[in-house]
Amino acid sequence: MRQRLAVGNWKMHGSLPENQVLLSKIVAAAGSLSRALAVVCVPFPFLAQAQSLLAGSKVAWGAQNVSQYPKGAFTGEVSAGMLREQGCRYVIVGHSERRQMFGEDDVTVALKAQAVLAEKMVPIICVGETLPQRDQGVTEEVVGRQLGVVADRLGEEGLRASVLAYEPVWAIGTGKTATPAQAQAVHACLRSLLASRSNSVAAAMPILYGGSVKASNAPELFDMPDVDGGLIGGAALIAEEFIAICRAANG
Ligand code: PEP
Repeated sequence: MRQRLAVGNWKMHGSLPENQVLLSKIVAAAGSLSRALAVVCVPFPFLAQAQSLLAGSKVAWGAQNVSQYPKGAFTGEVSAGMLREQGCRYVIVGHSERRQMFGEDDVTVALKAQAVLAEKMVPIICVGETLPQRDQGVTEEVVGRQLGVVADRLGEEGLRASVLAYEPVWAIGTGKTATPAQAQAVHACLRSLLASRSNSVAAAMPILYGGSVKASNAPELFDMPDVDGGLIGGAALIAEEFIAICRAANG
């Protein structure tokens, strides 16, 4: 059975006092999750707080970005080794906000995923099409290219230790969610692309859906056979919403 996940992407939100309240509520609720793992990917300055509040709990934590380089004169960058020392288990790579606003291309995303794996953490590799791409009917081509570049570099072994997230760019932070059928169609396509490399990787890899997931739509999305949970932005900042989404991922 594939790992089910509810991953909160806090983006550039939060403060020490707010986080304390949010995290303590998530920890209390996570005790009853049997199948799904709750993960919070917090801004770098909050990793120490996450580590101190979450260590020993059933909630894992991670980061939203990482340098592709292990160390050196890269002002402002944070290495995978540093994240590992903060207890991170997961690192989001290739989020569309990083691709679009910070110019990350497929090769950079692949290098970042490799850097994460080299430190024995799990990259959550994001792929997704824009609205014009969906309208042109090239969704599968776009996500196939994004996945292909990463898969070529990680190889079967690297893929086996990774998580994939399908995040249609038009659904992120817009309130527009892909329908369960739209999500399932792309997830099935991604899984068949993985199967063309390795059947066992395809069968085992969690593929998360992200894009305006809320407590109200999570159950029907997570009910799809190839949707193994979600990557959650806005709703991950509201304890009751995120907890309900974690429960939906738990099934
Ligand atoms: C995200 O940031 O990955 C995301 C899916 O955001 P939202 O849930 O707010 O659309």
